[in-house]
Amino acid sequence: MRVVLQNLTKIFPSRNKKSNEEVVAVNDFTFEIPDGKLIGLLGPSGCGKSTTLYMISGLQKPTSGQILFGDEDVTDLPTEARGIGLVFQNYALYPHMTVKQNILFPLQNLKGADKLSKEEMMERAYNAAKLVQIEDLLDRKPSEMSGGQQQRVAIARALVKMPRVLLLDEPLSNLDARLRLQTREEIRRIQRETGITTIFVTHDQEEAMSISDMIVVMKLGVVQQIGAPQDVYDDPANLFVAKFLGTPPINVFEGTVRGEKLYLAEDCVMNVPGVADQDVFVGIRPEGFEVNPNGAMRCSLNNVEVMGRDASVVSEHPASVNPVVRSIIDSDIRLDLSNKNVSFSLKAHKVFLFNKDTEERIRFEVR
Ligand code: ADP
Ligand code: MG
Repeated sequence: MRVVLQNLTKIFPSRNKKSNEEVVAVNDFTFEIPDGKLIGLLGPSGCGKSTTLYMISGLQKPTSGQILFGDEDVTDLPTEARGIGLVFQNYALYPHMTVKQNILFPLQNLKGADKLSKEEMMERAYNAAKLVQIEDLLDRKPSEMSGGQQQRVAIARALVKMPRVLLLDEPLSNLDARLRLQTREEIRRIQRETGITTIFVTHDQEEAMSISDMIVVMKLGVVQQIGAPQDVYDDPANLFVAKFLGTPPINVFEGTVRGEKLYLAEDCVMNVPGVADQDVFVGIRPEGFEVNPNGAMRCSLNNVEVMGRDASVVSEHPASVNPVVRSIIDSDIRLDLSNKNVSFSLKAHKVFLFNKDTEERIRFEVR
């Protein structure tokens, strides 16, 4: 099911009676979620992810704008009539019911033409349980299961009504690191198998990048950039997006462009054809550095952390905004730590310039 958001806005009135400051939680969202895709809504806490999801689900009413499922305007439809499945961070299972009863629950309230026979309900519940691989745990109570298993039950319960759209709000946040990794792969598999259009909310860029067909990066209720994860990583629209994606994060410098050349402090590090003279922010991805004795970027070397295939070089540079510069190089390249300095040349396509005031991207031709 294709989902379209049109100028979707949510304004909360001020909580504080004295001030009249309202919160624009979601500001004029317009985008389309293609049928059968998994979309990651990504941004820091408070940027309006949950509010967006709740409006799509019908739990919250937009201040203005429309929501379409396919060609149908669902903006004023109640939640029950939208055909959605919802999964939250805290699995919210009924503690006194077994897994089977929890999964069956949404089917038991179906009315009229949607009403199912007992056998049909059982079959649906079993299939949903099988999909999330808990079919052997149907008689347990939630308290007898791990967090990961409980979240699977919650996903099965959301799937059992065969929703048109599956909405997941930070579903992995309560799981430990290993389970998070495993469960996110599971969600991806289930999404592929069912082909249900899925909207996945997270503040964790790695999580969103790893499973989404498309990510929507948000900040303070405003969409910053939409695209395939790798495209957004490779071509960030502004400094916020550049900083939000990537581990280790992008290195940020204060630089100057003079005569189509980029200077970081005294170092003339690169040609930037077509860029006017100005002060800029410079973002360099950790993989954008190449150790090169003749490289123009001269750093003082702090440490080298070898991590199997890669080595992380920790150094300092006078133009760096952050205390240290982190670069990732091939671990075969041995750096002599008794040497206090290291020089790098830069890979031009891993270097991004941003306007010092607006923090919007300034593009140059990469030759
Ligand atoms: P996220 O899920 O990205 O962390 P939310 O959508 O929960 O963000 O919140 C977005 C903004 O809206 C925040 O500033 C939050 O404080 C505010 N907000 C959320 N729900 C309400 C509410 N019911 N009343 C007032 N303000 C709210
Ligand atoms: Mg939230």
